Amino acid sequence: MRGIRVWARLLGLQGAVVEDVTVGVEGEVIVAVRPCWRERDRCGRCRRRCGRYDGGEGRRRWRALDLGATFCLLEADAPRVSCRRHGVVVAAVPWARHDSRFTRSFEDQVAWLACNTSKTAVAELQRVAWRSVGQILERVASEARRQVDLLDGLRRIGIDEISYRKGQKYLTVVVDHHSGRLVWAAPGRDRQTVLEFFDALGQERCKQIELVSCDMASWISSAVAEAVPDAERCVDPFHVIGLATDALDEVRREVWRQARKDGNTQLAKDLKGARFCVWKNPQHLTDNQRAKLSEIQKTNGPLYRAYLLKEQLRQIYQLSARKAEKLLDSWLDWARRSRLPAFVKLARTITAQRSGIIAAIKHGLSNARVEQLNGQLRLITRRAFGFHSAEALIALAMLKHGGLCPPLPGR
Ligand SMILES: [Zn+2]
Repeated sequence: MRGIRVWARLLGLQGAVVEDVTVGVEGEVIVAVRPCWRERDRCGRCRRRCGRYDGGEGRRRWRALDLGATFCLLEADAPRVSCRRHGVVVAAVPWARHDSRFTRSFEDQVAWLACNTSKTAVAELQRVAWRSVGQILERVASEARRQVDLLDGLRRIGIDEISYRKGQKYLTVVVDHHSGRLVWAAPGRDRQTVLEFFDALGQERCKQIELVSCDMASWISSAVAEAVPDAERCVDPFHVIGLATDALDEVRREVWRQARKDGNTQLAKDLKGARFCVWKNPQHLTDNQRAKLSEIQKTNGPLYRAYLLKEQLRQIYQLSARKAEKLLDSWLDWARRSRLPAFVKLARTITAQRSGIIAAIKHGLSNARVEQLNGQLRLITRRAFGFHSAEALIALAMLKHGGLCPPLPGR
């Protein structure tokens, strides 16, 4: 009897009784268990008590955390019950989530590791395929999302898109500017997906939204205007800077094409190498790159002009809203007269978005936090490679950046 209690303790079992412990043919430890009477005959989906339907498919096994260096499996009956809401379902067991071949502690540990260590570490340590990790994360995240309402108390949010599968597919993500957390994500990038978020938020909570930051895409802004007409719309600074960097690159390529056409191979070669010094922020330049930049200044007017235009636009975000407004207007003047088609076009875009750009500065959204979370989410899309579905990717993102990651078992 005493030995049995040690086993329950060792496995972290609650609400269950250990009946027997045996060693399988491959040396794995098999622990026969049953739910204690309070936990018996409950619906696997809603955990409500209901009548026994039949014996189901007999005995079932669940992979538990290793015992030292040894595989461990729990084994128990898996009867079916008849729930008033869910019909005939396999009865709930206290040691595992519904429809899982793993125990709850095993899954919690996998989720924790997936959030905190490398892909190979999770798979090797837990002896599971990365694909199965994806399915585990989905179960853990969906349970956590039922328990914690991340959409409560939102005032200032950011809506953005994240690409995955090499840019072929997209997620729409919503972050809370106050907590810095990811609060919602769904596959797709269209107006309908954004409206789905506001549906999930509900009318009452939509009224509480004061500010929405996003890029300049109309699929977001039109949905925002419809669902939260009173919220102020801000344009995310890093999208603005991103457009300026694109424009600069267009100028660089044009100058390079022209140099090649003119047979100026040395200049063409130099320009290829110039790519990094015009992209980088000035304070991060190496001495070599600085030298290169001053060379560009001497030899290539248009490219240097484009560089200064990008840099000055970046400067706007270092200023107070009042000063930024002035600088932005003089920037727009300069860009319009720059004779660089890419920047003339950018000036048009920015003129159309002017109020949203200034609003972002006014509300202090020019900080790096949004961008940082964005970068981290992009890293997750790379880690999620090998998962079978977008849902698994979303689960990993919600666990890691929505604050839903469970603690390690027993802590
Ligand atoms: Zn039920």
